[in-house]
Amino acid sequence: MADYIYTMEIRLTPDQLKGVSLVQDVARAAGMNLYLTGGAIRDIIGGSSIRDLDFTVQGNPLKLQKEFEKAGARIAAIEEDTRTLFLALPGNARAEVSMARTEKYEKTGKPPIVMPATIHEDLRRRDFTINAMALSLNEGSRGLLLDPFNGVADLEAKVIRILHNYSFLEDPSRLIRATRFAARFHWPLEERTQARYDAAKEGKYIDYILKSSIGHEIAALAHEDDPLNVVKMLEKEGWLQILHDHWTVAKVDANGLTNLMKTRQQMVDLGYTPDAGPAVMYFLTSHFSDKDVSDIQKMIPRKDLVEAWRDIEDHAKELAKRLMGKEAATPSRTWQLLSSARPEMVLFLAVTAKQQSVEQKIKNYLTKWRQVQQKIPLPEMTELLITPQLPIYPKLANDVFMLLLDGKLRSRTETLKFLKPFAPPPPPPPPAPRRGRAAKAAAEAAAAQAAKAGAKPAKKGKGAAVAAPPQPPAPAAADPKAAAKAKSDKGKEAAKPTKPEPKAAAKPAAKPAKKAPPKPAPKKVAAKKKR
Ligand code: ATP
Ligand code: MG
Repeated sequence: MADYIYTMEIRLTPDQLKGVSLVQDVARAAGMNLYLTGGAIRDIIGGSSIRDLDFTVQGNPLKLQKEFEKAGARIAAIEEDTRTLFLALPGNARAEVSMARTEKYEKTGKPPIVMPATIHEDLRRRDFTINAMALSLNEGSRGLLLDPFNGVADLEAKVIRILHNYSFLEDPSRLIRATRFAARFHWPLEERTQARYDAAKEGKYIDYILKSSIGHEIAALAHEDDPLNVVKMLEKEGWLQILHDHWTVAKVDANGLTNLMKTRQQMVDLGYTPDAGPAVMYFLTSHFSDKDVSDIQKMIPRKDLVEAWRDIEDHAKELAKRLMGKEAATPSRTWQLLSSARPEMVLFLAVTAKQQSVEQKIKNYLTKWRQVQQKIPLPEMTELLITPQLPIYPKLANDVFMLLLDGKLRSRTETLKFLKPFAPPPPPPPPAPRRGRAAKAAAEAAAAQAAKAGAKPAKKGKGAAVAAPPQPPAPAAADPKAAAKAKSDKGKEAAKPTKPEPKAAAKPAAKPAKKAPPKPAPKKVAAKKKR
């Protein structure tokens, strides 16, 4: 049987995994059964990136608001009728926690009657087979996959299939969802689903779409990896206009959007996890009037998305101003300023900056300056015993990086001259081999045991195990998360080396700092995000 918990653990981002634990702890303490459901399961099994975590609890999650907040989540929105909580989890993870429910559609165009239900019943009210699976996160059945409609088979076949013939009539927003998923995954609708889809289109079922569903579908665009392709497909099918009367692809800043997604990918490759959602919405609606933008924003249930979208231009302007000021007078100070800025703002400004100097600084930050890290002489540092085990190592590696960035260390020789005073004294020689009867007896016993095991006895006076070679120290300063913690205005200090510790007599190559030392640097070169 497939081990879905293992798959989940390797597929989710660290922030998402922490989010799963957080939600699990809260649900468990409340005695509610919890399942990971919907798109999260589809993408864990199918291998696509996981946009948000969809949880379903047997019980009312609205009662758990305080507990979620205590555990570190923010409530981004509440949907009373379906008893759904929208959570902003620490880091950039988004989640929905809904009540397991049945939905009874009595009248076309009217919201369904919602009743609490079991997870099995809940899966029956879902849109497509690939979205109608649940993974148990409960003690006793943790890792059990519920897949009553054979969603795994449809995932493997790469088809989108409704659960029953009335699906589009009951909820016409599924027409938009079907198009969105087809555009995202490049998968076709299964034959009968396609026939129902065509009939629904012909019969204008879409006129019965609920307003709340429109808001959900607008918000969903923000998190698409290729939003331009999705809106093009929506326009072709006639659904973009349903989301807003004036929406056409012409309202989109296609160049801006393409650049945004490219830069986002570049940042993801460097280990950042910027939430591009607000910026995507900005470009999707670039040529709308303010009034139309405000109308669209009112439809979106997640207020955190709306706020971030509203503030994005002002925040970018602030950052641009700082990047043009004293705070970013040198490369090292600019590095620190950008490292402490939110990755979302760096991303947005990278694409929208009007001043060439700002644009260039961000470009250097994301490309050229990273190559400076290659100049940190790691092998020589290891020879000098300056390794990550030293408490001073992170700060030292950061100082070297900053000095290299500013051109204050111009060659390997200069860098080594700077580093040498920090080298710890060599370790004492190993103790002399034991002599005497006790040692002889011990050696004989070891030899006898090795012979028994069929191995060669170890040579006298030498350890049988070979010591592991020292690990090369990882250069610091490029881990975005850790770097983000560094305060922006410590740049000046960071550029100055600090007093050498171990060899008090040795002279450092540069002047020691007089003020408080800068914050320790992050530990590693921006690691590629595991996906
Ligand atoms: P995404 O990757 O865009 O988040 P998703 O399938 O997870 O895709 P969500 O909007 O997050 O979409 O919804 C979570 C789950 O809730 C879906 O997978 C589906 O099971 C269910 N769902 C959402 N909207 C509908 C709908 N209109 N009708 C039936 N089920 C729905
Ligand atoms: Mg989802």
